[in-house]
Amino acid sequence: MRTEARQSEVLWEESLSLFPGGVNSPVRAFRAVGGRPLVLSSARGAAVRDADGVSYLDFVGSWGALILGHAPADVAAAVAAAAERGMSFGMPTEGEPVLARLIQSAFPSMERMRFVSSGTEAAMSAIRVARGITGRTRIVKFAGCYHGHSDALLARAGSGIATLGLPGSAGVTAAATADTIVLPYNDLAAVRSTFAAHGATIAAVIVEPVAANMGVVRPRPGFLDELRALTSRDGSLLIFDEVITGFRVAFGGAQERTGIRADLTCLGKIAGGGLPLAVYGGRRDIMDTLAPLGSVYQAGTLSGNPVAVAAGTATLRRLASGEAYALLEQRAAALEAGLLEAMRWAGAGCSVVREASMLTVFFTPQPPANLEEAERADTERFARFFRGLLARGILIPPSQFEAWFVSTAHEAEDIARAVAAAGEAFREAA
Ligand code: PMP
Repeated sequence: MRTEARQSEVLWEESLSLFPGGVNSPVRAFRAVGGRPLVLSSARGAAVRDADGVSYLDFVGSWGALILGHAPADVAAAVAAAAERGMSFGMPTEGEPVLARLIQSAFPSMERMRFVSSGTEAAMSAIRVARGITGRTRIVKFAGCYHGHSDALLARAGSGIATLGLPGSAGVTAAATADTIVLPYNDLAAVRSTFAAHGATIAAVIVEPVAANMGVVRPRPGFLDELRALTSRDGSLLIFDEVITGFRVAFGGAQERTGIRADLTCLGKIAGGGLPLAVYGGRRDIMDTLAPLGSVYQAGTLSGNPVAVAAGTATLRRLASGEAYALLEQRAAALEAGLLEAMRWAGAGCSVVREASMLTVFFTPQPPANLEEAERADTERFARFFRGLLARGILIPPSQFEAWFVSTAHEAEDIARAVAAAGEAFREAA
């Protein structure tokens, strides 16, 4: 065990000498919770295994991509078979329309779509299309919603009257975010006054229909409906970023749950079955502004990659039957109920926000309605809670502001184990 235990350490040291902060995406560095990040080597079902052979019950699920758990046999076989046939062609391939039809069966609003390789690309491109077809410049987004790291979307709210978005990262210019208006999530008054002042210049409103990047924050009743109404009225487009909610909160995502039809939709994560694939699409007249039909340019060498398409297709085929969602609901509801009970027992004074098979334990007395409220969370206590869970073999996202994801591979016993560990971790975190 001792020699083995060095393996993660060695790999982590090596990574630190190669990658900024040791990682290829920042939240993986565990900075918000402390300690050395796990270095993983394999996974199956609901469990991941680190380089020392230590197993953890996983609620990260590759940040929501793995709704069927790790390496499901049918998806892995489809991937292997596709790889044998060729890894990339850079030409239309036979699998693309198959996946597109499956996506369309879930999201009828996606009359035309385009495959890309990341959610960042999907959201960035959707915005370009929205600006292209409307000839308008401004974008409205909501604080705490994440739409990838493209410049215009890495904006934070300016102080005072919400007009100019400010760069949310060094290296993003003020010009790149000047046309991004950042409003508080769930704040219809702010949306109404923004439309009153700038309606004619707003190309699109982009929103996570259930926010999952400040922890899970639900839309208030009427919030999304009014976004639909205001955008329609003023000739702006409504973009639902369903990179997380797509195929997660229902097969047809938030659009199925709410009955709202977005003009443009972004998908990723589950759509690629764990491989790099994302999608944006929507109304035919809007999407037909893309090259080669129209004047909005967007392209990708690996777009529609056949191996990723095979993974997405195998995943969506399994989800299409609908049975998976009943199971996910059962498991996630049991997790929620167990966590609530454990919290009460430990007098933890937290809240649990769940939407379908994603949830967040907030170290706030009340479920937050927006970023400002979410940021009041006691992140020190969260960090202790995280470490308590990890010490008991349970891996949750290493940040207060992320969602836990339940997969079809989580068995009833897994949920019970997580709840028991949480009971102890809540007391340690108190
Ligand atoms: N949109 C949403 C809602 C997301 O959650 C994410 C990533 N978590 C993205 C876009 C960006 O996707 P990617 O990381 O694949 O670029």
